[in-house]
Amino acid sequence: MEFAFVSGDPALDLAGTVLSRRDAPVDLLSAPADLERWVAACPGLPDRVRVDRAGFELARSLREACYRLALDRVHGRPFDAASLAIVNRAAAAPPPVVQLGDTGLRLSGNLRAVLSQIARGGITVLADPAACLKECGRAGCTRLYLDRSRGARRTWCGMAECGNRVKAAAYRARRRTSA
Ligand SMILES: [Zn+2]
Repeated sequence: MEFAFVSGDPALDLAGTVLSRRDAPVDLLSAPADLERWVAACPGLPDRVRVDRAGFELARSLREACYRLALDRVHGRPFDAASLAIVNRAAAAPPPVVQLGDTGLRLSGNLRAVLSQIARGGITVLADPAACLKECGRAGCTRLYLDRSRGARRTWCGMAECGNRVKAAAYRARRRTSA
């Protein structure tokens, strides 16, 4: 399955690599190689990173911590202390090296640096009182996203991921009713 980068922030996109968390969770990152592909595909992260078993487990614990904290934010409740510790620890590591070249910006670093970058971005979002965090409006989709739309009117994590599916289902339902 293809990865989606629709949440507006790598920490939220990482959290979104577990689909339908409440009903029938599907984990898109089942092995270190999956995480290597995810990092390479994620905007704002280095193109290439090596992931070993220990790093993979670290990334998964950061993912679950990011999800928990973002959900706490959505529900307006205090942050889970254990998740805060995980995210803050990851953010304490040096971030990737940024360099400018003829092809533009280049990021490089190992997995710790990548996780630091993800944690730092997540902290920036979660610390921003003006950031509008939402859960996708499609029943069963548990993806969290940052609504940056004017008036914060966005309903779905992504049109291709959920918006079109909901609209198509509503259309089929209308046709059934009129038939
Ligand atoms: Zn969705």
